[in-house]
Amino acid sequence: AEDALRQSQKMEAVGQLTGGIAHDFNNMLAVVVGSLDLLTRRMGEADPRARRYVDAAMDGARRAAQLTQRLLAFSRQQPLKPEALDANKLVAGMSDLLRHTLPDIQPETVLAGGLWRTFADPNQLENVILNLAVNARDAMADGGKLTIETANCHLDVRYAAGHLGVPAGQYVMIAVSDTGSGMPEEVIAKAFDPFFTTKEVGRGTGLGLSQVYGFVKQSGGHVKIYSEVGQGTTVKVYLPRLMGAVEDVESAQTDDALPMG
Ligand code: ADP
Repeated sequence: AEDALRQSQKMEAVGQLTGGIAHDFNNMLAVVVGSLDLLTRRMGEADPRARRYVDAAMDGARRAAQLTQRLLAFSRQQPLKPEALDANKLVAGMSDLLRHTLPDIQPETVLAGGLWRTFADPNQLENVILNLAVNARDAMADGGKLTIETANCHLDVRYAAGHLGVPAGQYVMIAVSDTGSGMPEEVIAKAFDPFFTTKEVGRGTGLGLSQVYGFVKQSGGHVKIYSEVGQGTTVKVYLPRLMGAVEDVESAQTDDALPMG
């Protein structure tokens, strides 16, 4: 619990800091991109070498703009809009998105029959699964298998409280597995920290897993990494089972499910 508190405080502080910087940065980048655009038009086809330099500058500026967009999205921490949700449907509905984002990987889905419903923000959950899938792809430079699995899970007291730090009970599990490089202990220990990345500059922001963590905690669930170096990684997301009528849950959950923590 102390760990979770430390983690959410860290994310909040980083979120506020990056929000301000990203916002100013975005404005400055708009000036850079706009000026380069004007320069390109002025130059026409006159000097191909100079044109290449301008294109390279434009390319860099665009990538910087993408990064600031991600930072802004991260710092915004929009309030969640949870709803009764069928994770199987959500995963199945992502097939086009996944095919576009990961063209050389055919994710396999193993969807549990009779899956319980959960109560979560569908857009954010899609984002979580996409983040995990992109990480899986990045870990499998030489190809491999990506699997998205759903299951009903009874977490008993010993496992839930002792291992995961969540109340015992019934959870919907969504697991994203890869057969990639795996993660050593010291990487697992830091993986949820904002800005922790082992990827090269421009490829990783280190925000993916901290976003996943924030979402899952806000949704009353938990996330756990199981990984073996050289074998692959499974990230399991647990979301609480939706009990009773939607109306009941909505009024019961808004009190304690929405604040960070
Ligand atoms: P980013 O992907 O931008 O680096 P993340 O927060 O998503 O940021 O991930 C942090 C780090 O955790 C990654 O840089 C990588 O070292 C490690 N990681 C995450 N997912 C995986 C995975 N599926 N396989 C191996 N390493 C992973």
